[in-house]
Amino acid sequence: MSKENPGRILIVGGGTAGWMAAISLAHAWGKLGAEITLLESDAIGIIGVGEGSTPKMRRFFAKLGIPDQEWMPHCNGTYKCGIRFPNWSTRPGYESYYHPFFSASDDPYIRAFYQNLVLRQRNLDAHALPDTYFVSNYLAKNARAPLPDGGVDYIADYAYHFDARLIGDFLKTRSLAMGVKHLVDTVTRVEQAENGDIAAVQTEAHGRVEADFFIDCTGFASVLICKALQVPFVSYKDYLFNDRAVAMPTPHADPAVLRSETTSTALKYGWAWKIPLTNRVGNGYVYSSDYLDEAAAEQELRSHLKLTGDNQPEARHLKMRVGRLEQAWARNCLAIGLAQGFIEPLEATALMIVQDTVENFIEQYQRGGWSAQYQEPFNAKVNLIFDSVRDYVYMHYKLNSRQDTPYWVAARENPHISDSVREILEVWDKGGDLLDEINRQSARMSYSPTSWFCIMAGMGRFPRKPPRKPRRDQPVIDPAGPKQSCLKMMEHFPDHRAAVDAMRMAHA
Ligand SMILES: Cc1cc2nc3c(=O)[nH]c(=O)nc-3n(C[C@H](O)[C@H](O)[C@H](O)COP(=O)(O)OP(=O)(O)OC[C@H]3O[C@@H](n4cnc5c(N)ncnc54)[C@H](O)[C@@H]3O)c2cc1C
Repeated sequence: MSKENPGRILIVGGGTAGWMAAISLAHAWGKLGAEITLLESDAIGIIGVGEGSTPKMRRFFAKLGIPDQEWMPHCNGTYKCGIRFPNWSTRPGYESYYHPFFSASDDPYIRAFYQNLVLRQRNLDAHALPDTYFVSNYLAKNARAPLPDGGVDYIADYAYHFDARLIGDFLKTRSLAMGVKHLVDTVTRVEQAENGDIAAVQTEAHGRVEADFFIDCTGFASVLICKALQVPFVSYKDYLFNDRAVAMPTPHADPAVLRSETTSTALKYGWAWKIPLTNRVGNGYVYSSDYLDEAAAEQELRSHLKLTGDNQPEARHLKMRVGRLEQAWARNCLAIGLAQGFIEPLEATALMIVQDTVENFIEQYQRGGWSAQYQEPFNAKVNLIFDSVRDYVYMHYKLNSRQDTPYWVAARENPHISDSVREILEVWDKGGDLLDEINRQSARMSYSPTSWFCIMAGMGRFPRKPPRKPRRDQPVIDPAGPKQSCLKMMEHFPDHRAAVDAMRMAHA
């Protein structure tokens, strides 16, 4: 039965997911009379990691009408032009590659990259490392901000890095100003009605809290949707081995140089992130507990970061539940964030999925007159997003060529493979048309064809035999041309440190 407005919505959990949901719902439904409350436990706290994003985050703030200048200085925010992947491949010339954020302005370079890549895929001698063909790579390498001056007609896409705690605080302040109510308390029991819906939650201090609809943002604990409603969890463990992380911040080696990229370096049993914020660098090692224990992981990260002496940063050890719910929306409950699922942060996609889930929910719940009418297509779509991100992350492991530990060999030889990834590899290895294949699969894809080209070429998945000289009718692009054009373009972009400092000064 359709209702006149969404009624009372209770969000349980005040991490980044909870506050992103609160502000988005207040923006969409506040004026329609929705009563939105966020309840969070100060005894449990938030996970406090999650500092990288995708360009989708730009759309999040743009929709809310919040410019970069307003929120970034509050959150020690920096710009992110893309992700660099050193040491995943051992193939000569491909020991490191860059996955850029690109925009329509990159089209001429993408065409050049594509032309060479197709020739190289057929074992002709052509330069196919993606780094060369994207302005974004030069901006990131040379610590520039992705905001061109007026002298150039070029649009650079970008994302952000930020402090995970401060972004929650910022969104909380804004949400409260938009009418969201806030309760600090711990849920001790979830009360179900006879029909199985959630009727209320019992809390320590506020007693029984009722609502018409519940949003579970309780992190990995999944208090409402898994523990109470018993929605099954689909593990990705067979595809992605990593289930632990150790995090430790460090000061900037040189505060004047602020790189505008995330670096994801492969280590012995996983990979390490490096995320530059304005005031510090976030670091962490994501690894598999089947191959490494906490102490050894911490030691390997410290040595990767070249930390010596007495004044060492403290390490935080984290467990990760990797996979997704069978249904993110069940009965009168929607799970968002870690409660809903998680894929290791190699492509920093968790908050992108939070945003996708919230936006789709707003659309479908409203379209169905605030009923469960569109619950099934909603769940199918969210599951597809999860599985397709998993496939792209999985591909990094499948394509690795490291021999140094059994972990990397097992990841490459992993017999668990989705149909989508298997079909992509078959087409590519036969020298077939990858663009055609990605377009064929587009309904179940989260990543663009260019991202797929970048990973296949960036990891050096090319024939092993020495490349042949191209014929005259197989025109190879000289990489010096795109490189010079990109470097020239780069001159129109300001120094990253200067840009974020100026933003901070303007809002001091
Ligand atoms: C190692 C690691 C690295 C990551 N890196 C990235 C990244 O680079 N980019 C990215 O997008 N994401 C990343 N993520 C994911 C990101 O951290 C989360 O998606 C994000 O922080 C949202 O978390 P959350 O709000 O779902 O959960 P949490 O932050 O865990 O919040 C849970 C909330 O639920 C409340 N709660 C729990 N139980 C109860 C209860 N019984 N009663 C009341 N309240 C309760 C807690 O008080 C808290 O407020 C990373 C995650 C990990 C583990």
